[in-house]
Amino acid sequence: MQKKYYQPEAETMQVEDIKKLQEEKLIKQVKYVYDNVEYYRNLMDEKGVKPEDIKCLSDISKLPFLKKDDLREAYPYGMLATDLNNCVRIHSTSGTTGKRVVAFYTQNDIDLWEDCCARAIVAAGGNEEDVVQVCYGYGLFTGGSGLHGGSHKVGCLTLPMSSGNTNRQIQFMMDLNSTILCCTPSYAAYIGESLKEKGYKPEDNKLKAGIFGAEPWTEEMRRDIEKSLGIKAYDIYGLTETSGPGVAFECECQTGMHINEDHFYAEIIDPDTGEVLPEGAKGELVFTSLDKEAFPLLRYRTRDITVLTREKCSCGRTFIKMHKPMGRSDDMMIIRGVNVFPSQIEAVLLNKGYAPNYQILVDRVNNTDTFEIHVEMLPEDFSDTPKVITKKEKQIQAAMKEMLGINPTIRLVAPKSIARSEGKAVRVIDNRKKIGINV
Ligand code: ADP
Ligand code: ZN
Repeated sequence: MQKKYYQPEAETMQVEDIKKLQEEKLIKQVKYVYDNVEYYRNLMDEKGVKPEDIKCLSDISKLPFLKKDDLREAYPYGMLATDLNNCVRIHSTSGTTGKRVVAFYTQNDIDLWEDCCARAIVAAGGNEEDVVQVCYGYGLFTGGSGLHGGSHKVGCLTLPMSSGNTNRQIQFMMDLNSTILCCTPSYAAYIGESLKEKGYKPEDNKLKAGIFGAEPWTEEMRRDIEKSLGIKAYDIYGLTETSGPGVAFECECQTGMHINEDHFYAEIIDPDTGEVLPEGAKGELVFTSLDKEAFPLLRYRTRDITVLTREKCSCGRTFIKMHKPMGRSDDMMIIRGVNVFPSQIEAVLLNKGYAPNYQILVDRVNNTDTFEIHVEMLPEDFSDTPKVITKKEKQIQAAMKEMLGINPTIRLVAPKSIARSEGKAVRVIDNRKKIGINV
């Protein structure tokens, strides 16, 4: 039977009750961390804050922030808050932006994390009749295990495919009637493209929904995937440091992701000053775990840029929502002095009817930034004359100029010449970083 919520008592709690619960949990978690994590205790001592100073939710602003560099410095055991014997698992970040961070879990941490993923699956219409094909990577990456555990909790038949081997993914999807697909959006797009190449139409598969996350993706990309797979595509957000996917998930309204506020307290700050910003303002997302035993984090700076809003949602959930992160603060490129996010480029290309197969190349030559975007032409454009191709490149360039304010060089390249991603897509090659230019 289709449940509307996996844990209705939490997901539809009155806002005042959420705040009260968060306050009680915060006070306890701060004391727990202070008593058990020397690294953070030192940060609090340096700032002159004691656990007793945290009496209500707004007191959280007295606490020091934690950054990814702190976790790297404390690697591997420095942030551990419990005896290693109480831990049952380790996961690690993908290392997208540098040295990997490891996170530890007790059995209770795993249980709560899987509950969060189960909430996401139910919100995407999942129930015990579903066949959930998990093609996020299994192993150190949190994507596979998280959705796998959530799928078990909901009682779905779980297909633990892991990522890669697209032919086998498609064979199992068709033979075993998968109804929910879980992977990165870039891999979902690739699966859609491969299905089409094999001659399948969107209505030939039994998929009804997809739960896609672990990397930024645009609304344009969502529409593209929904069309190619014939499904409704839901966003899911999380990071290893806070447990993994499922910190926030989308409901049927598809207007941002509900944050599991009974387990996480979210703030938006000005990334430059650290000042807490009011609801509705755009800034860096900061998380405080409220229940974690092995790897609790207070005021962890995610570097993800987003907006929080608490409007009444017609799904009935009361948890605050975060907008799709437009990328991390460190995804932002400064090219010829202008801020550029890869997501802006993706939006332009998909709006112009191109597939999400592109690569951004940035370099510095003679003290000037070079900015090139390689875009795969559509198979039907492959036979175009050089004159027509140049015209199309100019059209894309004009649309980019309008969006970004600067002119990239556009190069239409042969179909299939840009590597497809089975996990997180690598969209940007910024050679300036290699030669030590701070960008
Ligand atoms: P790494 O930081 O090495 O990539 P993780 O695998 O833990 O390690 O990735 C977490 C990060 O992935 C988040 O901080 C965020 O930048 C990105 N991310 C996860 N889910 C989403 C999503 N739905 N939309 C945009 N970005 C996401
Ligand atoms: Zn909702």
